[in-house]
Amino acid sequence: MTRPPKHPGRRWRERDPTQDRVWQPKLDWQWQPRRDVFVPVRSHYGPSWRAERASEEKLAFYDRVTNHFSGQYPPAVVQIEPVEGCLWRCPSCAVAGIRHQGLDSGSASDIRTMRVEDAVHIVAQIRCLGWTDTRIEISGRGEPLMHPRLVEMVRLMRADHRSIPIYLLTSGMGMTEQPGMLTRLIELFGAGVNCITITEHDERIVRAALDIRRVLTREGIRVQENPGVGMGASSKRIRPPMRILTFRSPPGSTGTYETRRRNMAGVAGQLSYEYMDVRCPRPFRELAVRWDGNVALCSDDWRGVYKCGSVLGGQLAAVWDGEPMVAARRQLMVRRRDIALCRNCDSHGQNTDNLPDPDILMTLRPPDDESAAAVARAQEGAPYTPPVRRAWEMW
Ligand code: SF4
Repeated sequence: MTRPPKHPGRRWRERDPTQDRVWQPKLDWQWQPRRDVFVPVRSHYGPSWRAERASEEKLAFYDRVTNHFSGQYPPAVVQIEPVEGCLWRCPSCAVAGIRHQGLDSGSASDIRTMRVEDAVHIVAQIRCLGWTDTRIEISGRGEPLMHPRLVEMVRLMRADHRSIPIYLLTSGMGMTEQPGMLTRLIELFGAGVNCITITEHDERIVRAALDIRRVLTREGIRVQENPGVGMGASSKRIRPPMRILTFRSPPGSTGTYETRRRNMAGVAGQLSYEYMDVRCPRPFRELAVRWDGNVALCSDDWRGVYKCGSVLGGQLAAVWDGEPMVAARRQLMVRRRDIALCRNCDSHGQNTDNLPDPDILMTLRPPDDESAAAVARAQEGAPYTPPVRRAWEMW
């Protein structure tokens, strides 16, 4: 009987020179009793690559994207923001720090949307880079369900990368503002979303939730309440073809850590200096891409004060490993919140002992004059989104 090797898969996919620059698939081993052997099969969630010869255009894309393939461990989450801005504009939300509560409040005139091809381009880069432990999170500084082509966007992302977990986080606002949204939720699952989390943000959502639970359960989608930290599921546990809908209480409703209302670096709530000497793991674990492809320091940097560049044009790894990101990590690694944004922020993550990478294999140089200069450069100039000053920022 042939036994499988002890460690059949490798965490990082490797390039195979015989395969004309395509990536080796990640293999699982399956017991075949008739043949009395273990045979390699592609992972149960399906192949994420194609073995045919790549076209010149594809090769150029691979070269451009993988040119920067080194350095920091891949992010656990790449956040894609289909929509910037929100029709509700609750004063307690950070959206009040980027949108006026004035005349255009409640209209769609101030909503920015991501181009479908840009979202697919980001997913294609993740595939090329072989970031197998990364998940896509469709959320951001607006209500994703307000994107008119969201279902198509998800469908194309799934067609490009069949094994990546796709999560969607919504306040549910899109469901009360648009008719037929319940059908759209089902369409999203059909298009390739693996987990949708609805924050029961508003009374209207709580009322609609009963219907949602009933209809989605009938469709064979698992429904779960308040599953815990973050999206409630790690990308290792929830992968295609799994489909799960979770409901989450809004931040601050129970006072637990999971639902703690954060001040979003002073944009959503009063400035806080409580965590000045605490490590923040966000720039080590997440890459938040805004509607226009730009990346700020983290998802709490709503205004884009700390600018890290654009991921369009095959620059995803270049931004992740870029000078502004690395300089910020060097500061945060030694519990220094010299960046103005971080000084005011009350974010502190979990498992900060596992930095800078989950296996604690990397070393990061301590901050010096060079990194301080990079941090200063990243904060120069106007932020990506014009700020609206909050009451506590006036003085
Ligand atoms: S401390 Fe800095 S990096 Fe961490 S969440 Fe706040 S603003 Fe972002």
